[in-house]
Amino acid sequence: MGDVVLQTATVNWLKALYGHELYITFVTSDEFKSLVENHPGIDQVISFNRRGGERWGDFILKIKGLHQARPIDLILDLHGTLRSLKLRLHFWSIPCLSIDKRRLERFLITKVKGKWLKTFIASKIIGYENQVERIINDFQALFNDHRALRRTIDKVNGPHQEITTLSKNDKDKQAHSYIVLAPSASFEAKRWPVERFVDLAEKVLSNHHIEIVVLAGPGDDFCKAFDKIQSPLLRNLQGKTSLKESMDILSHASFCIGNDSGMNHISEAYGVPCLTLFGPTDPCFGFAPHGTSSGYISKEIWCKPCSTTGSKKCFRDRPYCMNEISVEEVYKKFLELRDH
Ligand code: SF4
Repeated sequence: MGDVVLQTATVNWLKALYGHELYITFVTSDEFKSLVENHPGIDQVISFNRRGGERWGDFILKIKGLHQARPIDLILDLHGTLRSLKLRLHFWSIPCLSIDKRRLERFLITKVKGKWLKTFIASKIIGYENQVERIINDFQALFNDHRALRRTIDKVNGPHQEITTLSKNDKDKQAHSYIVLAPSASFEAKRWPVERFVDLAEKVLSNHHIEIVVLAGPGDDFCKAFDKIQSPLLRNLQGKTSLKESMDILSHASFCIGNDSGMNHISEAYGVPCLTLFGPTDPCFGFAPHGTSSGYISKEIWCKPCSTTGSKKCFRDRPYCMNEISVEEVYKKFLELRDH
């Protein structure tokens, strides 16, 4: 989910570069369609309904039909996976550019030990640029147009001149002051313990009159831990909202606190500041927030990062990378960023 949101930066950049004469078809999985279907820079969304049993052959035929009706000039592979490679092979005669997701460099950094070597690889080989800037920088080098990033920022900027890539639902202009807590993540190791999110919510509620909304998916039952808070200012919407509804809620929030996950990327894409808590992954992978009022907490621990995506189970007796992030520290960082 986070990847799809981040890729919308490319759409904005291409439209900034070529204007609305350029026709963009965005291809994605059906479950992520709602992330991009109302994006002003995307002319058409084609989705593959893998979970609904759509056959790969039928999906390819759908795209072939499109190509016949309106010839495709260029394929940009923004996913860089085996599936996207398979898709590209079906259309081998169409020119294609593929994104470099720094997979090898990320893998390397999970294998080296020692702070100096890790810092060297992170700063000299991978770099600390955010994925949004990285994608645009890579493509603008290929397209040989170095005005593009500036133009993208000018075209779609957030309240503090950061790049935003999604547009709010204009129908709802009401100002909201709630904050969002997003305790979920694609992999368990990437989750800050839910009990700490609960303690954080209690701390915020006891010190401020701020409404808190908890957002998480239908399978994230661990969010029941919030039920112990009996306050009208807390709304636990875990499993109660569609992706589209969660996006709307996030877009009108004043702040979002979550893990290195899609919810924080969506929040940033709307220009809503966020605080990202990194566990087994590292900010140098490119997924740290880039907004001027956003920030992150990531502990210096010898075993971290232990995988490129956070998918591996912790091999130590407990997940120190997350456990060492205290409620007090998150609360203080939140206040610091909020008052920025
Ligand atoms: S404590 Fe170390 S090994 Fe365990 S999940 Fe965190 S980074 Fe990985």
